[in-house]
Amino acid sequence: MNDAGNAGAVLRVDLGALAANYRTIAAQVAPAAVGGVVKADAYGLGAAEVARTLEAQGCRDFFVAHLSEAQALRPVLDRKARFFVLNGLLPGAEAACAAADVIPVLNSLDQLGRWSAQASLLGRRLPAALQVDTGMARLGLSPEDVAQLAAEPQRLRAIDLVLVMSHLACADVPGDPTNAAQTAEFERLSAYFPEVPRALDNSGGSLLERPGHFDLVRPGIALYGAAPQTGRPNPMRPVVSLEARIVQVRSIPAGKGVGYGMTFHAARPSRIATIAVGYADGWPCHLANRGSVFIAGQRVPIAGRVSMDSITLDVTDVPEEHLFPGAPVELIGPHQTVDDVARDAGTISYEILTRLGHRYARVYTPAPQVAEPKRSVNA
Ligand SMILES: *Cc1c(COP(=O)(O)O)cnc(C)c1O
Repeated sequence: MNDAGNAGAVLRVDLGALAANYRTIAAQVAPAAVGGVVKADAYGLGAAEVARTLEAQGCRDFFVAHLSEAQALRPVLDRKARFFVLNGLLPGAEAACAAADVIPVLNSLDQLGRWSAQASLLGRRLPAALQVDTGMARLGLSPEDVAQLAAEPQRLRAIDLVLVMSHLACADVPGDPTNAAQTAEFERLSAYFPEVPRALDNSGGSLLERPGHFDLVRPGIALYGAAPQTGRPNPMRPVVSLEARIVQVRSIPAGKGVGYGMTFHAARPSRIATIAVGYADGWPCHLANRGSVFIAGQRVPIAGRVSMDSITLDVTDVPEEHLFPGAPVELIGPHQTVDDVARDAGTISYEILTRLGHRYARVYTPAPQVAEPKRSVNA
C-alpha cells in the first residue's frame, strides 16, 4: 500500500461517519438489531477496519458473501461475533464452513441436507440461517420448498436455526408495491418457523416507513454513506473521500486532440491537467468526456478517455494559482458524492465503491471513542 506522500490519490475513510451511520440506522429500526454487511471488503472500504468499528458500536452480526471472507475476518473480531455467509454452502465446503465457526445462509433443501449431514458427521448440531425467496428469484427456498420443509420437520433436527431471512428487490424505491408484497410473503413464509428471529431489510428496507423491521436488519450501502433510496434526500453521512493531485499541466491550441482515440478536441486554446488516477484504480471508462472532478471547488470536466493510470482534465477556466504539480483534485468529496459519480458513469454507487483501487493511499479517520461531535467539516 502507498503512503499519502507518493500515491496518485488519497482515499479517506471516515470511521466516525461510519459509526454515526450505524447509530442512525439503529435508531430508525429499534427495537430490531443492526447487523453489518461487510462483503466485498466492506464495499471496498476495508473489511477489517469497518468491522472493528461496527463492533465497537455494538454490532454482533456480520454478513459476507463468501466463506473465505468470513475466514479472513473471524480472527479480527471477538469470538461473540457471528458471521453469516450469504451465498450459502457450496458443495465440498461443509467441513471448512463448520471448522470456521460461521453460519451458512442455507438457500436450498440441498444445502440444508448437506449441512445436516455435516452435523451428523460431527455429532453436534450446527447453526444455520435459512433464506426464503419472497419474490426476487435469486437465492433462497421457494414457497414450495418451505411447505415441504414444514411438512418434514425432521430435516431440521441437526440444525440450530438462528435466523430466517429474505431479500427485497426494490427497497431503494420506497413507493414500489413489490416492497409490500415481499413483506407480506415474508410474514407468511417465516410463520412456518415461529420461534426463529427474522431479517428482511437491507439499507433501503431499513428506511422504509413500515411499522416494524423484524428482529435484525442487514444494511450495507447506507453504512458506507451512499444514498439508500432514490428520489429522497440522503440521510447518511459521507464516509469516503478521494483526492488526487495534478501531475502535469499543459497548454494546447484550438483544434488539438487529447488522449487515446483523440475523442476530445479543444474548441479554444486550452489548458489540460493530468492526474494519476485511471480505470485501473476503478475510475470508470464511461466517464470519458462526461464525468467531472473539482479543483478549488470549481467543476472541471474530464477531457478525453480515461486511461489506465491517468485522466486528462480541461482546466482552461480554472485560475492558474490552483494549477501546479501536486495541487489537490477532488474526485469524491464535498462537491461530488459517490452517487454523483455513479450517475455520471451510468452505474450505481455500489459499483463505484467496490471498485475503488488498491493503489490509493488509504487514510482511516478513527471513530471517536466517546460521544460523537457534530458533523465534521469534511462531512
Ligand atoms: C448485499 C446484501 C445486503 C446489503 O444490501 P444494501 O443494499 O447494501 O444495504 C443485504 N442482504 C443481502 C442478502 C445482500 O446480498
